[in-house]
Amino acid sequence: MTDQYAVIGNPIVQSKSPLIHGAFAKATKQDLEYTRIESPLDGFDAAVLAFRDAGGRGMNVTAPFKLQAFALATDHHEAARIAGAANALKFDGERIAAQNFDGVGLANDIERNLGLALQGKRVLVLGAGGAVRGALSPFLVRGTAEVVLANRNVATAQTLARQFGAQGKVTPCGYADLAHERGFDIVLNGTSASLKSELPPVPAGVFADAALAYELVYGKGLTPFLRLARNAGVPRQADGVGMLVEQAAEAFEWWRGVRPDTRAVIDQLTVPLV
Ligand code: NDP
Repeated sequence: MTDQYAVIGNPIVQSKSPLIHGAFAKATKQDLEYTRIESPLDGFDAAVLAFRDAGGRGMNVTAPFKLQAFALATDHHEAARIAGAANALKFDGERIAAQNFDGVGLANDIERNLGLALQGKRVLVLGAGGAVRGALSPFLVRGTAEVVLANRNVATAQTLARQFGAQGKVTPCGYADLAHERGFDIVLNGTSASLKSELPPVPAGVFADAALAYELVYGKGLTPFLRLARNAGVPRQADGVGMLVEQAAEAFEWWRGVRPDTRAVIDQLTVPLV
């Protein structure tokens, strides 16, 4: 029987996950079907349990349900525990296992697809929301020299720096503190500002030494952040499409025990940065 998987969110029509997992299944000859489920905002648990009870094997979870998915799960893998949020679930009888592959997907994209080892790098991260929380540990275990964490709400950045400080150097700050900062190898926009075509208040000087500017938002072309980086002379810009496909590959392997190749799918989904 064909195994059933789904991505759940609200809204969900925009999700690329069915396309990605469909391509992975075809390439690896896995007999599975992957659909979209739009859950009512107040009906997440019921929607997940109904899918599972109908024979579903696993789900991806997207906004705004990652915290609820974590709460619903009975077993929490470390990355989900660290993030306090789940972006993938696996069903086994009554048990619901939670994972979070966003952070490892981002780190894999930077290292494997963009060819930049994180070891020894000084990274400026803008934003301190859920995606950044999930990325900190994968960055620090890969040996970043320092992660400078800038957020509008500095207290949130300070909380994350305290939480992750034992794993490596994390320096919290506000945007005003970046006025004279230089020497970042990677500048990463982990805010949601680009969804509204906004630019975090980041001074162009932070790009002076950067080899890569990375935007977590994907499919929007040259966002204000990437434009600023390009104009400041950063040789390489990337959006989050590689992160999206890499986290999907992690989930696919977790569910199916087979590692899909990501290159062709990334190429298919890439929107040119113009
Ligand atoms: P959250 O809502 O948890 O966090 C949003 C963050 O953005 C906060 O730090 C917030 O700052 C900051 N922010 C929002 N607007 C602005 C602005 N105009 N200027 C400066 N800072 C701003 O979101 P997530 O962490 O879950 O997601 C962040 C982005 O990453 C989203 O756009 C999402 O689409 C993308 N994403 C991409 C993925 C991929 O696979 N490529 C996976 C997951 C997320 P403050 O705390 O001060 O309000």
